[in-house]
Amino acid sequence: MYETNYSQLFDPVRIGPVTAPNRFYQVPHCTGLGYRYPRSEARLRGIKAEGGWGLVSTQETEIHESSDLTPYNEGRLWSEEDIPALRLVTDAVHEHGSLAAIQLVHNGLHTANNYTRVTPLAPMHVPVDTQDPVQARAMSKQDIAAFRHWHVQAAKRAKRAGFDIIYAYAGHGMSLLHHFLLARHNQRADEYGGSLENRLRLFREVITDTRDAVGDSCGVAVRLAVDELLGQDGMQNDAEARDVIEALAELPDLWDVNLSDWSNDSQSARFSEEGFQETYTGFVKSVTSKPVVGVGRYTSPDAMLRVIRNGLFDFIGAARPSIADPFLPKKIQSGRFHDIRECIGCNICVASDNTCSPIRCTQNPTMGEEWRRDWHPEIIPALSQRTQCLIIGGGPAGLEAARALGQRGAEVILAEARTHWGGRVTFESQLPGLATWARVRDWRLGQLQQMPNVQLYLDSALSASDVMTYDIEHIAVATGARWRDDGLGRSHRYPLAFLNDQNVVSPQLLLANGVDVINDNGPVVIFDDELYYLGGTLAEQCVQAGYDTTLVTPAAVVSPWADNTLEQSRIQTSLLAQGVSIVPLHTLADWRDGELYLSCVYTAKKIYIECKTLIPVTARIPDDRLWQALVNQQDHWCDAGIKTVERIGDCYVPSLIASACQSGHQYARNLGPGDKPAAKREDFNPIKFSTTSFDS
Ligand code: ADP
Ligand code: SF4
Repeated sequence: MYETNYSQLFDPVRIGPVTAPNRFYQVPHCTGLGYRYPRSEARLRGIKAEGGWGLVSTQETEIHESSDLTPYNEGRLWSEEDIPALRLVTDAVHEHGSLAAIQLVHNGLHTANNYTRVTPLAPMHVPVDTQDPVQARAMSKQDIAAFRHWHVQAAKRAKRAGFDIIYAYAGHGMSLLHHFLLARHNQRADEYGGSLENRLRLFREVITDTRDAVGDSCGVAVRLAVDELLGQDGMQNDAEARDVIEALAELPDLWDVNLSDWSNDSQSARFSEEGFQETYTGFVKSVTSKPVVGVGRYTSPDAMLRVIRNGLFDFIGAARPSIADPFLPKKIQSGRFHDIRECIGCNICVASDNTCSPIRCTQNPTMGEEWRRDWHPEIIPALSQRTQCLIIGGGPAGLEAARALGQRGAEVILAEARTHWGGRVTFESQLPGLATWARVRDWRLGQLQQMPNVQLYLDSALSASDVMTYDIEHIAVATGARWRDDGLGRSHRYPLAFLNDQNVVSPQLLLANGVDVINDNGPVVIFDDELYYLGGTLAEQCVQAGYDTTLVTPAAVVSPWADNTLEQSRIQTSLLAQGVSIVPLHTLADWRDGELYLSCVYTAKKIYIECKTLIPVTARIPDDRLWQALVNQQDHWCDAGIKTVERIGDCYVPSLIASACQSGHQYARNLGPGDKPAAKREDFNPIKFSTTSFDS
């Protein structure tokens, strides 16, 4: 049950010369929009402010051409010319009475400067930590002085762009200030290296410089990673990190503290609970009198209240919870707790940045589409006339289509064949570590149950002849997809004949029925040709049920796409720790007498392993039989009162859960008369800037 008084979360808090209107702090997070899509970036941040985030920050924003994150698309403030784009952000945030923060960054040895071709800078001569065959150059004293100057210039520009809070950033192993702090990156022999006092000298100087430059009207924030989860090989919260904060305690106006690297900071729900950072960051308030912001994927109002009441932090820091629900603060303020769309911790948002693409979110299909498609997370224009819709299939796509259409005022019937809602998320959320994924279903169902214009029917497998008798205008077929069991996929472009009449268990069967469908006690082999999460989680399920389990994959590592969601290394570590055998770089070649033959992807050399049950995770087939049957009767639609029949979600094309939600949402937005406006493009229409230089 929720407590009734959350007013403490809405106290104003002073940050140096500025005051945040409440304790909801959208910490810096990437959007993949950055400097290339400034209007989209501004609209996204403005909507967060509209949703009640009292403080809204940019992503990391490069201060100089020697910090060029190409091909990634972050913020950029190299010169005066970048100000107008960032001014769009501050205007959008200020419009709703929130404060705008900017996370200035110099990426040091964390970038190869592929666009500018400037030699990367670092405390010492070392290779950069990206995949590029590039070394960074040890900074001279002149370089250090130049870097301080660039930071000051960027801070002044940020102030002129309208920012209220300006960051000095020493986090995630991604910033020069962090590199100087860390002993393994800084073995300089001068006053900037060696002892901790020397290693933090530059950080101290930059904080002081920033204060001197803009501190009269802007709050100066620092972002510091207090633990790298590397034990004694890295910064630890109860050792050097504490010393750093003690040494600089009162220098900044705000401490924003977290874990490093990014994969530790943004741990997915598969590997962490809400509030998982408190053990590391909870001490900071005992060392400084300045306000502290901490993160931990907080989505529960009670957890937030506990954090503030127990004096752990002064602000509830959030990136992902603010992405999944930009209106989270307003919903708490107005007591609409059940309307909060909780982040599921899947890190699809993170994957967008890692694939150099604009942000998307599994839970919030409007994320990243606020400007391009003019999608608001809370508002969808009402339908201008009475509209009846039948949505067939209650998985993510069907639930989202029904919910959004219900919000638009349509008369909606949602029919689901099974005796439960949720389609694939109901099954997948039962896999190890994926329980929070059920939130995709639960939030939508919760919304639908409040809508008088929506009727929900379980246990209702509809046929085409059923649909033809209902006299409903618009039909959306959201009947999902099923996993293949014939081996066809990326590696094998034809079905594998040697799988016929063998003990093959499709992921579909396993997901629906659990490990009981494995009718042999012998070794289980999972062939993961899909390369994201399912192969790994099924392997975990099998090994936990006591099966001798092997995961075979054509990739070099398990679940390689999960590198984008920052999970790959944890998945592989966890599978190995649980006793799953891993055979990378192999495809399937044959299977006879209980021996599964595998082929090396490079040499085609064969090996064999024992296998009694094979689970091929390769590809899915849309379950569009109902749609096809309806299309076959298209000549009779008019008589049956049908105007449109469309496939949505996995039934149209099997994809991510995020894509299914997006597909259902888009269907609902587009329904109704009239042409739909095309998505806008920013690349045709760059921001105009003044050529007047303010730099001094
Ligand atoms: P998506 O991700 O596209 O939403 P899912 O596979 O998660 O797809 O969900 C599809 C849902 O459609 C499943 O719950 C399935 O039981 C349901 N379904 C499939 N065929 C029918 C049908 N003929 N009538 C009603 N529901 C159906
Ligand atoms: Fe949360 Fe997933 Fe959305 Fe990211 S994509 S905000 S992790 S629900």
